[in-house]
Amino acid sequence: MSRVFIFLLAGIAGAVIAGRKGRSGVLWFLLCLFFPPLLVFLLFLPMKLSGGRTKQCPYCGKVVSAKETACRYCSKELPIEMAQCPSCGSFVPDKDYCVQCHRELRQK
Ligand SMILES: [Zn+2]
Ligand SMILES: [Zn+2]
Repeated sequence: MSRVFIFLLAGIAGAVIAGRKGRSGVLWFLLCLFFPPLLVFLLFLPMKLSGGRTKQCPYCGKVVSAKETACRYCSKELPIEMAQCPSCGSFVPDKDYCVQCHRELRQK
């Protein structure tokens, strides 16, 4: 019985570490459940950056899409990148247009 418990623990640990590295938690739960030594391999695996731009949540350390304004894991608001508007000179969130003067932030 205790043996099953240890395997289960390895699976949960694998799922947690995989989640932190932006990998599939379910997949690694099963992998570590049936083959716990994979846990060591997972620890040395580099952070996976899934397609598109990503950023790391400063609160929980998980990798989220750069487009997201709030972390989907800990639901804290993520700091928005700021840009200086070339038209009015004020610092505004890095969007397509300036929230102050409504002109485009990037010249095409
Ligand atoms: Zn977070
Ligand atoms: Zn402006």
